[in-house]
Amino acid sequence: MTAAVVLTLSGPAEGTSSGARREYADSIIVHTIGGPSCEAGKLAFSGAPGDAQRWKEFFDRHPFLGIHWVVDRDGLTLASTPEDRVANHALDNNASSIGIELVHEGDGIEPFGKRQIDALIGLLKSIRSRHQVPIANIKGHSEVDARTFACGHRLYRTKMDPGANFPWARVRAAVQSGSALVAKPAPSLQPQRRKQLGARLW
Ligand SMILES: [Zn+2]
Repeated sequence: MTAAVVLTLSGPAEGTSSGARREYADSIIVHTIGGPSCEAGKLAFSGAPGDAQRWKEFFDRHPFLGIHWVVDRDGLTLASTPEDRVANHALDNNASSIGIELVHEGDGIEPFGKRQIDALIGLLKSIRSRHQVPIANIKGHSEVDARTFACGHRLYRTKMDPGANFPWARVRAAVQSGSALVAKPAPSLQPQRRKQLGARLW
């Protein structure tokens, strides 16, 4: 998300980067922590060390950046900004989106491990159980921000995350298969079971 990060910011434990309350969310934007910058005329990535706790604290304390969820390489998934509040994670796309930050370089080279992707799939399914988010509205940051910057006489995309090697097909297929299950009508209860539930209700 950011080219340069400072991990020593002080401040309240959380809430500083939570924005206005909102009624609904209709899109999800996937990020990686690492982002491009220009060092001595060459494209460089900022790196993404540490775990979800480290980055949750970073976003909790950040004076203006925010994110709803952080998922690290081990699959640990932590919440930062509540989903019913706006977080500042994607320019001009914050109002009705939920932001997910993957602790990952995002350079198109570092592989995406199974634990992180499985956790992301679980999180996406979970978000879609709470909000009406069409599959097409699950996007990478690079899809919603076309800004560029110059480095070494070349133009590069300012936002490349989650990177060219992100497994979109696998993620979308897995999330969709989950939604199909959710959409199935509940099996009708057996009479005996219905009786038990009725007994409990009364
Ligand atoms: Zn981003």
